[in-house]
Amino acid sequence: MTPTTPRVTAVDTYDIRFPTSRELDGSDAMNPDPDYSAAYVVLRTDAADGHEGHGFTFTIGRGNDVQVAAIRALRHHVIGRPLDELCADPGTLNRDLIGDSQLRWLGPEKGVMHMAVGAVVNAVWDLAAKRAAKPLWRLLADAEPEWLVSQVDFRYIADALTPQEALDLLRAGREGSAARTDTLLERGYPGYTTSPGWLGYSDEKLTRLARQAVADGFTQIKLKVGADLDDDIRRCRTARAVIGPGIRMAVDANQRWNVDEAVEWTRALAEFDPYWVEEPTSPDDVLGHAAIRRAVGPVKVATGEHVQNRIVFKQLLQAGAIDVLQIDAARVGGVNENLAILLLAAKFGVPVCPHAGGVGLCELVQHLSMFDYVALSGTTKDRVIEYVDHLHDHFLDPVVMRRGHYAAPTAPGFSATMRPASIAEFTYPDGEFWVKDRAGQPATHQPNGAAA
Ligand SMILES: [Mg+2]
Repeated sequence: MTPTTPRVTAVDTYDIRFPTSRELDGSDAMNPDPDYSAAYVVLRTDAADGHEGHGFTFTIGRGNDVQVAAIRALRHHVIGRPLDELCADPGTLNRDLIGDSQLRWLGPEKGVMHMAVGAVVNAVWDLAAKRAAKPLWRLLADAEPEWLVSQVDFRYIADALTPQEALDLLRAGREGSAARTDTLLERGYPGYTTSPGWLGYSDEKLTRLARQAVADGFTQIKLKVGADLDDDIRRCRTARAVIGPGIRMAVDANQRWNVDEAVEWTRALAEFDPYWVEEPTSPDDVLGHAAIRRAVGPVKVATGEHVQNRIVFKQLLQAGAIDVLQIDAARVGGVNENLAILLLAAKFGVPVCPHAGGVGLCELVQHLSMFDYVALSGTTKDRVIEYVDHLHDHFLDPVVMRRGHYAAPTAPGFSATMRPASIAEFTYPDGEFWVKDRAGQPATHQPNGAAA
């Protein structure tokens, strides 16, 4: 018998929803009652090592079934693929997925279908890192610059970043990477916390959690704003009084404003020294962000968690529209597209401060920032990863925070694997939690997964 080539044998999907809206966790001016959810995918194989590739994209409840259906529509591209080829070159699958000539009509490269591509591509990277016995950040940081360039789709961005420029950036980024790896393993990567600042929290809870954030070693917090100006002024004053002048305080409007409103509102909060204003308006409005940035300085302008692809990021950078670029691990088409975006940010010299929180977004995106520090930008100056203390316990390799820093993951993979018991309990609508909930019975599990 000839040995068979191990292949992907199944692409299983799950609609997983957590009832976070009940505690107003995650509430902001545009999203008052999110149920943090994952459209989750598992790539199963017939390899003897037993590894699986896990990936997901994040939604906030209704529509998670639509997102799952989009992932399922991609299965035929993945099932039967030889694992050695797939993991040696995820970029080819990435191009096949975004190039599906019928599914492309639903985008192109934006929205539900593109997020589905991201979930599948990220699952492949999880599998590749597990097979390489490395955490993903290390797999990327150890990779040859030429290979990393081969993983980037330069279509539509080559006017701003050529493959040769990307190669030069990655070669330069390697200088000193061994020492930075040691620093990362010892100190971790700086984070900031949004936990105090949800819009639905009382002033007492804001005060308590802001004080706790400083005690925990964070040097930046973030407050949700944009629903009511008088409330925002009171909450910003309250938070600033608690944290003092030496801690950075960002504000996040979650796309609530028109351009003129964004300018007026940000100026009205300026006395509390906000470090950045996040998502002041539509994520598609490149020129609007540029106008806001010109008007609100020295307050910085940040966006990215809803920016749909590398092309819009390119334009934000070309237009001088942002001071802070916020990648999201599960919004664009996966690791390959985020490599393109990290390279664009490096070319333009704009710091990357990832969006995270939700469910599993901290677990994923830490790997991208750590790669960027070790082997691309080479710095953590003015760079912080968002941190929210929700739902980490549902993951096998949850993030670990120490003194306001993300500890570097050491387990192989992309930290994407959710506990089987959590998947079973919170699968919608037939998981145990939701069945009991409909029957009016008390939950057996703390849905938040938070410490307290
Ligand atoms: Mg935000």
